[in-house]
Amino acid sequence: MPVSVPKSTSLHELFSLKGKVVIVTGASGATGIGTEAARGCAEFGADVAITYSSRPQGGEKNAKEISEKYGVKCIPYKCNVNDYADVQKLVESVIKDFGKVDVMIANAGRTANAGILDSSVEDWKEVIDTDLTGVLHCAKAVGHHFKEQGSGSLVITASMSGHIANFPQEQTSYNVAKAGCIHLARSLANEWRDFARVNSVSPGYIDTGLSDFIDKKTQDLWHSMIPLGRDAKYRAQGRIRLLRFGCQLGTGKEYCAVPTICQKAYGRCDSDEIPPGPPTSGDKRPLLSGPPITRCTQAGSVAITFDDGPSNNTNTILNLLREAGATATFFVTGNNNGKGEIDLSEQWRETIQAMDADGHQIASHTWTHPDLDALSSEERKVEMYRNERAIANILGRYPTYMRPPYISCGEDCAEDMKDLGYHIINWSADSGDSTFPNDLEAMKRAVDIEVDKWGSDGGAIFVQHDTIPVSALQTTKYILDWVEKRNWKAVTVAECLGEQLTTAYRSKAPASISIDHQ
Ligand SMILES: [Zn+2]
Repeated sequence: MPVSVPKSTSLHELFSLKGKVVIVTGASGATGIGTEAARGCAEFGADVAITYSSRPQGGEKNAKEISEKYGVKCIPYKCNVNDYADVQKLVESVIKDFGKVDVMIANAGRTANAGILDSSVEDWKEVIDTDLTGVLHCAKAVGHHFKEQGSGSLVITASMSGHIANFPQEQTSYNVAKAGCIHLARSLANEWRDFARVNSVSPGYIDTGLSDFIDKKTQDLWHSMIPLGRDAKYRAQGRIRLLRFGCQLGTGKEYCAVPTICQKAYGRCDSDEIPPGPPTSGDKRPLLSGPPITRCTQAGSVAITFDDGPSNNTNTILNLLREAGATATFFVTGNNNGKGEIDLSEQWRETIQAMDADGHQIASHTWTHPDLDALSSEERKVEMYRNERAIANILGRYPTYMRPPYISCGEDCAEDMKDLGYHIINWSADSGDSTFPNDLEAMKRAVDIEVDKWGSDGGAIFVQHDTIPVSALQTTKYILDWVEKRNWKAVTVAECLGEQLTTAYRSKAPASISIDHQ
């Protein structure tokens, strides 16, 4: 059984770590990612085991402070993550002292201070041994326990240096180790899919004290490349969300690929990108929005919808729809999961233009696929504006229909969408593709149930996911066959509500942009 989605709908419960035991390696500094992560977990109610390697006083001071301030149990342990026996001993001691381990944050790390030509092979080994093999040691030692327990969560501190090569400082060994951590997380997420979640986090420049040895000129240069012009002060909120709430988003996703909960100020994640061209924020927006819509009003019509694209599956979906003489609605995200910004990629531009040319409706599923209820009003609007700008850069107009990711759009969010003049479209029929993405038979059964429910009148708004191959390619065909058998008409959401497709957009001139032809 794959790890399931948490059942609670209470954010307090989702975020609470009460009764959980968390190990954080590398948490003996006065500040720093490990220390803040330990404090954050304690603040949310967890008992915490922290480790130090060379600073026993630091470990003891932090443990005392954490247990006094948050009223939880916190014990410091000496552990050298380079040594597997030492990490095994740590896990055994924590189980003995706390009874179990629910979460391990493999955070201990070290920096590199030269490139490969100016440092020795020994220097290379030291960095790889701590930053990559040290994480493997943590994973292996705690993984056996997670498996036996049937649950657990491993969070690996990677780095933006696992995605980019930093400039100007040379630190190849560190960059390689962190890139290894990111792929280690992905691979373990697969290996442990039946019992534990594994994720990595990629912070950008954080004021941890670890880089204090870097001269001021270089630090100023780094800051000049960061939109906010400074290091981030690390707070553990992102990590806490990943431990609890992030699990809804699956496992093994590199944290930056989930900008919903990405620490926006901490590095260049997808979400930091702003599409070129004048913003849409000042546009006139006649009121359109009512309560969220879940069904068609036109007799005999059904609306098939595809979320999360464009993707590599979209062209095949377009062929299937063309063959069936059907139209559909694509709720597109502008810039998430590392697919790049839709308006700057030749492939995504062409895909979206092809949707449009075939008479399908293009609607918004936000810029980076966040949980809109977890954002401020301003952030929610930015999510909509950026996707509007990007879609306008491709089509010369942008949508008036949107679907909130996770169908998460409470009263405040709905109010914002009303201000922006959006129709909110939920769904009424689900093929179950996000629940069992590889199980075609299960999806067919789910579709059969929906088809029965809607009888001869039709009216269903089907949700599908562009990004799930089995669903996009085979379940779509299965639904289209039913549409034909039932004599329904598969149309766009706008048309199934009795609107002209032209009302589904507002005009906006595209920006002149140079396209990435890679
Ligand atoms: Zn989605």
